[in-house]
Amino acid sequence: MSDLFDREYVCPICGHVFSSKQVKTSAIRTKAREKDFHATFYGENPTYYGVICCEACGFTQFENDFKKAVSEKWKVAIRERISSHWRTQNFLGQRDTAAAIKVHLIALLNYKVLETSYTTLGKLYLRLAWFYRELENESESKKYVKLALDAYVMSYETERLSDEPERELEIIYLIGELNRQLGNYKEAVRWYGNTIHHEYAFKNRLLITYARDQWALAAEQYAQEKNDKVLQEENERKDT
Ligand SMILES: [Zn+2]
Repeated sequence: MSDLFDREYVCPICGHVFSSKQVKTSAIRTKAREKDFHATFYGENPTYYGVICCEACGFTQFENDFKKAVSEKWKVAIRERISSHWRTQNFLGQRDTAAAIKVHLIALLNYKVLETSYTTLGKLYLRLAWFYRELENESESKKYVKLALDAYVMSYETERLSDEPERELEIIYLIGELNRQLGNYKEAVRWYGNTIHHEYAFKNRLLITYARDQWALAAEQYAQEKNDKVLQEENERKDT
Protein backbone atom coordinates (compact mmCIF):
# COMPACT_ATOMS: atom_id res chain seq x y z
CA MET A 1 0.00 0.00 0.00
CA SER A 2 1.27 3.44 -0.86
CA ASP A 3 2.47 5.76 1.89
CA LEU A 4 0.96 8.65 -0.09
CA PHE A 5 -2.58 9.91 -0.49
CA ASP A 6 -4.25 12.65 -2.55
CA ARG A 7 -5.35 15.86 -0.90
CA GLU A 8 -7.51 18.35 -2.78
CA TYR A 9 -6.64 22.03 -3.08
CA VAL A 10 -8.28 25.07 -4.65
CA CYS A 11 -5.84 27.63 -6.01
CA PRO A 12 -6.59 31.05 -4.47
CA ILE A 13 -5.11 32.79 -7.52
CA CYS A 14 -6.73 31.03 -10.51
CA GLY A 15 -9.43 28.86 -8.94
CA HIS A 16 -7.99 25.63 -10.36
CA VAL A 17 -8.99 22.54 -8.36
CA PHE A 18 -6.37 19.80 -8.13
CA SER A 19 -5.07 16.93 -6.02
CA SER A 20 -1.52 16.78 -4.73
CA LYS A 21 0.17 13.90 -2.88
CA GLN A 22 0.87 14.02 0.85
CA VAL A 23 2.45 11.46 3.16
CA LYS A 24 0.06 9.56 5.42
CA THR A 25 0.80 10.44 9.05
CA SER A 26 0.80 6.73 9.92
CA ALA A 27 3.52 6.15 7.28
CA ILE A 28 6.03 8.69 8.63
CA ARG A 29 9.00 6.81 10.09
CA THR A 30 11.84 9.02 11.29
CA LYS A 31 15.33 7.57 10.87
CA ALA A 32 17.48 10.33 12.37
CA ARG A 33 17.33 13.94 13.48
CA GLU A 34 20.17 16.40 13.13
CA LYS A 35 20.80 19.42 15.31
CA ASP A 36 19.46 21.90 12.73
CA PHE A 37 16.13 20.00 12.77
CA HIS A 38 16.88 18.15 9.54
CA ALA A 39 15.25 14.74 9.74
CA THR A 40 15.74 11.68 7.57
CA PHE A 41 13.08 9.04 7.11
CA TYR A 42 12.59 5.39 6.25
CA GLY A 43 10.34 5.67 3.20
CA GLU A 44 8.68 8.90 2.18
CA ASN A 45 10.04 12.23 3.43
CA PRO A 46 7.08 14.48 4.40
CA THR A 47 9.29 17.59 4.16
CA TYR A 48 9.43 17.12 0.38
CA TYR A 49 5.66 17.67 0.25
CA GLY A 50 5.62 20.79 2.44
CA VAL A 51 4.88 23.21 -0.38
CA ILE A 52 1.90 23.06 -2.75
CA CYS A 53 2.23 24.14 -6.37
CA CYS A 54 -0.73 24.96 -8.66
CA GLU A 55 0.07 23.31 -11.99
CA ALA A 56 -2.15 25.80 -13.86
CA CYS A 57 -0.66 29.13 -12.72
CA GLY A 58 2.51 28.38 -10.73
CA PHE A 59 1.28 29.74 -7.40
CA THR A 60 3.38 27.89 -4.80
CA GLN A 61 3.27 28.16 -1.01
CA PHE A 62 3.72 26.19 2.19
CA GLU A 63 0.53 24.18 2.63
CA ASN A 64 -0.95 26.42 5.36
CA ASP A 65 -0.30 29.56 3.32
CA PHE A 66 -1.76 27.97 0.17
CA LYS A 67 -5.11 27.61 1.93
CA LYS A 68 -5.27 31.28 2.94
CA ALA A 69 -7.12 33.95 0.96
CA VAL A 70 -4.91 36.28 -1.08
CA SER A 71 -5.67 40.00 -1.40
CA GLU A 72 -6.33 41.53 -4.82
CA LYS A 73 -3.03 43.41 -4.77
CA TRP A 74 -1.03 40.20 -4.33
CA LYS A 75 -3.16 38.26 -6.83
CA VAL A 76 -2.22 40.84 -9.48
CA ALA A 77 1.45 40.63 -8.49
CA ILE A 78 1.46 36.80 -8.73
CA ARG A 79 -0.34 36.82 -12.10
CA GLU A 80 2.08 39.38 -13.52
CA ARG A 81 5.33 38.02 -12.13
CA ILE A 82 4.70 34.26 -11.80
CA SER A 83 1.70 33.08 -13.87
CA SER A 84 2.55 35.05 -17.03
CA HIS A 85 5.91 33.18 -17.22
CA TRP A 86 4.54 29.83 -16.07
CA ARG A 87 5.01 26.80 -18.30
CA THR A 88 2.92 23.92 -16.99
CA GLN A 89 4.94 21.76 -14.62
CA ASN A 90 3.45 19.41 -12.19
CA PHE A 91 4.59 18.45 -8.73
CA LEU A 92 1.36 16.65 -7.85
CA GLY A 93 2.76 13.11 -7.68
CA GLN A 94 5.57 11.43 -5.75
CA ARG A 95 8.56 13.72 -5.15
CA ASP A 96 12.22 12.81 -4.95
CA THR A 97 14.94 15.14 -3.62
CA ALA A 98 15.43 16.82 -7.00
CA ALA A 99 11.69 17.53 -7.37
CA ALA A 100 11.58 18.83 -3.77
CA ILE A 101 14.40 21.27 -4.59
CA LYS A 102 12.64 22.47 -7.77
CA VAL A 103 9.29 23.07 -6.10
CA HIS A 104 10.91 24.83 -3.12
CA LEU A 105 12.80 27.13 -5.51
CA ILE A 106 9.48 28.00 -7.18
CA ALA A 107 8.02 28.68 -3.73
CA LEU A 108 10.96 30.99 -3.07
CA LEU A 109 10.15 33.03 -6.22
CA ASN A 110 6.51 33.28 -5.14
CA TYR A 111 7.36 34.36 -1.60
CA LYS A 112 9.73 37.01 -2.93
CA VAL A 113 6.91 38.44 -5.08
CA LEU A 114 4.72 38.50 -1.95
CA GLU A 115 7.50 40.31 -0.01
CA THR A 116 7.23 37.68 2.68
CA SER A 117 8.84 37.70 6.13
CA TYR A 118 12.50 36.84 6.70
CA THR A 119 11.24 34.06 8.97
CA THR A 120 9.57 32.31 6.02
CA LEU A 121 12.56 32.91 3.74
CA GLY A 122 14.83 31.42 6.42
CA LYS A 123 12.63 28.34 6.60
CA LEU A 124 12.76 27.86 2.81
CA TYR A 125 16.54 28.39 2.60
CA LEU A 126 17.12 25.95 5.45
CA ARG A 127 15.06 23.27 3.71
CA LEU A 128 17.01 23.81 0.49
CA ALA A 129 20.24 23.43 2.51
CA TRP A 130 18.93 20.10 3.87
CA PHE A 131 17.94 18.80 0.42
CA TYR A 132 21.33 19.63 -1.09
CA ARG A 133 22.98 17.96 1.92
CA GLU A 134 20.99 14.81 1.15
CA LEU A 135 22.37 14.95 -2.40
CA GLU A 136 25.88 15.45 -0.91
CA ASN A 137 26.17 18.72 -2.82
CA GLU A 138 28.23 20.50 -0.20
CA SER A 139 28.74 23.82 -1.98
CA GLU A 140 25.03 24.38 -2.71
CA SER A 141 24.13 23.24 0.80
CA LYS A 142 26.57 25.72 2.31
CA LYS A 143 25.23 28.50 0.09
CA TYR A 144 21.72 27.93 1.48
CA VAL A 145 22.97 27.62 5.07
CA LYS A 146 24.49 31.08 4.65
CA LEU A 147 21.26 32.47 3.13
CA ALA A 148 19.19 30.90 5.94
CA LEU A 149 21.51 32.40 8.55
CA ASP A 150 21.28 35.89 7.01
CA ALA A 151 17.47 35.63 6.79
CA TYR A 152 17.15 34.49 10.42
CA VAL A 153 19.43 37.30 11.64
CA MET A 154 17.27 39.82 9.72
CA SER A 155 14.17 38.17 11.12
CA TYR A 156 15.52 38.44 14.68
CA GLU A 157 16.59 42.05 14.21
CA THR A 158 13.61 43.44 12.29
CA GLU A 159 10.53 41.29 12.86
CA ARG A 160 8.36 41.24 15.97
CA LEU A 161 9.14 37.75 17.17
CA SER A 162 8.48 38.58 20.80
CA ASP A 163 4.78 37.82 20.10
CA GLU A 164 5.84 34.23 19.48
CA PRO A 165 8.52 33.57 22.11
CA GLU A 166 8.83 29.89 21.24
CA ARG A 167 9.45 30.69 17.59
CA GLU A 168 11.96 33.35 18.63
CA LEU A 169 13.77 30.81 20.80
CA GLU A 170 14.07 28.42 17.84
CA ILE A 171 15.43 31.17 15.60
CA ILE A 172 18.02 32.26 18.17
CA TYR A 173 19.15 28.65 18.49
CA LEU A 174 19.32 28.21 14.69
CA ILE A 175 21.42 31.39 14.34
CA GLY A 176 23.88 29.67 16.68
CA GLU A 177 23.79 26.33 14.93
CA LEU A 178 24.09 27.75 11.38
CA ASN A 179 27.03 29.90 12.51
CA ARG A 180 28.69 26.77 13.87
CA GLN A 181 28.13 24.93 10.57
CA LEU A 182 29.86 27.82 8.77
CA GLY A 183 32.85 27.70 11.15
CA ASN A 184 31.94 30.92 13.05
CA TYR A 185 32.49 29.22 16.41
CA LYS A 186 32.66 32.32 18.62
CA GLU A 187 29.40 33.68 17.19
CA ALA A 188 27.82 30.25 17.56
CA VAL A 189 28.70 30.10 21.26
CA ARG A 190 27.22 33.57 21.82
CA TRP A 191 23.87 32.53 20.28
CA TYR A 192 23.76 29.16 22.08
CA GLY A 193 24.23 31.22 25.26
CA ASN A 194 21.32 33.49 24.23
CA THR A 195 19.19 30.38 23.74
CA ILE A 196 19.98 28.93 27.15
CA HIS A 197 19.38 32.26 28.92
CA HIS A 198 16.18 33.11 26.99
CA GLU A 199 13.22 33.84 29.28
CA TYR A 200 11.17 31.12 27.57
CA ALA A 201 13.98 28.56 27.57
CA PHE A 202 12.06 26.45 30.11
CA LYS A 203 9.36 25.84 27.49
CA ASN A 204 11.60 23.84 25.19
CA ARG A 205 13.85 21.50 27.12
CA LEU A 206 14.96 19.59 24.03
CA LEU A 207 16.23 22.79 22.44
CA ILE A 208 18.17 23.68 25.58
CA THR A 209 19.81 20.25 25.54
CA TYR A 210 20.72 20.82 21.89
CA ALA A 211 22.13 24.29 22.69
CA ARG A 212 24.29 22.88 25.54
CA ASP A 213 25.60 19.98 23.41
CA GLN A 214 26.30 22.18 20.40
CA TRP A 215 27.98 24.84 22.59
CA ALA A 216 30.41 22.16 23.80
CA LEU A 217 30.95 20.98 20.22
CA ALA A 218 31.59 24.54 18.94
CA ALA A 219 34.09 25.15 21.78
CA GLU A 220 35.86 21.90 20.88
CA GLN A 221 35.92 22.80 17.18
CA TYR A 222 37.25 26.28 18.02
CA ALA A 223 40.06 24.81 20.15
CA GLN A 224 40.86 22.28 17.42
CA GLU A 225 41.04 25.04 14.81
CA LYS A 226 43.40 27.11 17.00
CA ASN A 227 45.55 24.04 17.62
CA ASP A 228 45.72 23.28 13.90
CA LYS A 229 46.81 26.86 13.20
CA VAL A 230 49.65 26.65 15.76
CA LEU A 231 50.84 23.34 14.28
CA GLN A 232 50.69 24.76 10.78
CA GLU A 233 52.72 27.82 11.82
CA GLU A 234 55.33 25.59 13.50
CA ASN A 235 55.61 23.49 10.37
CA GLU A 236 56.03 26.59 8.24
CA ARG A 237 58.81 27.83 10.55
CA LYS A 238 60.61 24.49 10.29
CA ASP A 239 60.40 24.61 6.50
CA THR A 240 62.08 28.04 6.26
ZN1 LIG B 1 -3.47 28.50 -9.82
